[in-house]
Amino acid sequence: MPENETIVVIGAGVIGLTTALRLQQSLPKNSHKSILLVARDWPTTTSLNYASPWAGAHYRPVPGKTAQSLREETQAQATYTYFKSACQDAASGIAKVEGVEHLENPPDEYRDQTAIETYYDHLDGFRYLRKEEMPEGVVWGVRYETFVVNSPVYLAYLLRKFILLGGRTREYTLAGPREAFYLADGESGNVRTVVNCSGVGFGDEKSFIIRGQTCLVRNPTTTTLTRQNADGTWSFSIPRPLDGGTIIGGTKGPNDWDPNPSLAVRETLLANAKKWFPFTEESGGEFDVVRDIVGRRPAREGGMRIEVEHVDVGVGGGSGKAGKAGKGKRIVHGYGAAGRGYELSWGVAGDVVRLVLEGEEAGREKAKL
Ligand SMILES: Cc1cc2nc3c(=O)[nH]c(=O)nc-3n(C[C@H](O)[C@H](O)[C@H](O)COP(=O)(O)OP(=O)(O)OC[C@H]3O[C@@H](n4cnc5c(N)ncnc54)[C@H](O)[C@@H]3O)c2cc1C
Repeated sequence: MPENETIVVIGAGVIGLTTALRLQQSLPKNSHKSILLVARDWPTTTSLNYASPWAGAHYRPVPGKTAQSLREETQAQATYTYFKSACQDAASGIAKVEGVEHLENPPDEYRDQTAIETYYDHLDGFRYLRKEEMPEGVVWGVRYETFVVNSPVYLAYLLRKFILLGGRTREYTLAGPREAFYLADGESGNVRTVVNCSGVGFGDEKSFIIRGQTCLVRNPTTTTLTRQNADGTWSFSIPRPLDGGTIIGGTKGPNDWDPNPSLAVRETLLANAKKWFPFTEESGGEFDVVRDIVGRRPAREGGMRIEVEHVDVGVGGGSGKAGKAGKGKRIVHGYGAAGRGYELSWGVAGDVVRLVLEGEEAGREKAKL
């Protein structure tokens, strides 16, 4: 009779929840493995150090030439395909909308036709805007079908699905990922694999935060528009499905730990957006502000850490649940999504789950010897 085993997933942000769900869907029915999701913050809570509820969030390609941007593109395209089917269920908080981009001074990668094909061709309805369709000052413009996410609704949706499929949860603040090897309870067996989707990781020197400030307004819109201004700054508007208003953004401040929204930043964001936002007649050309939003994107130099770390875990004097001799343990890392956690989420979860399952397979082979 195979022993029961618990796989612990750390983190209930969009990366941890998606990974837990994909893992749950990928485990064979007779695997004797269950999943425990452990996190300090949950979709019902708000904390500056919990990025996911604060996101816009929309899906927008980010062309580039680095290995990181090509890897992210594969993850993004997997997510685009997933969003296409997930949005059929309105309860997901995902909706299909028109995406429009207006650039006044496009960086080199936007002028490279091969890069544009690599990053934009998968988008339904993609085409360049004609000159007469672009506002004054804009020299590069495209439109395509894309997706917007009401982030708090979507997080709750993922969590609900995970629980309904038998997933277990525990609110717990970990001092480090190794502590997670001790969190299995009773019948659920030992922990051999911990999946680290903690956003910024635990003391990783490459990790840093990118502060973002946006403004949630009541004014409705049906399109997500991204505009690069002549000074190189970016503005965007993102409709939140299910009448959640519109997010007007946004700033990017690496290592900026200021928790307070700046009124001056709000005024700049809204003034920039006012130039192109499609106000309804009754708004009188003004924004109806609900609140300012400040969030910290969990970034990492070189991009996400998605890899396996083999660890020995000391058994200690407690329950000893970390398992016999504490050997053969693995931490599968999946953190550091920066400003693209939603749009990469399904692809990232796929990559992390592959690493978890490969290890499970190897463990089984070893056990047979
Ligand atoms: C203003 C703003 C706009 C954004 N817009 C977009 C957008 O349009 N599109 C897009 O794709 N992304 C967007 N993002 C980025 C997106 O929000 C992040 O990439 C994403 O939320 C990261 O998710 P995560 O699960 O990795 O981390 P988080 O959401 O931060 O979750 C981390 C989880 O780990 C847990 N955890 C951490 N440490 C511990 C510990 N010690 N013990 C126990 N649990 C722990 C936390 O409690 C939490 O549950 C935006 C972000 C901001 C701030």
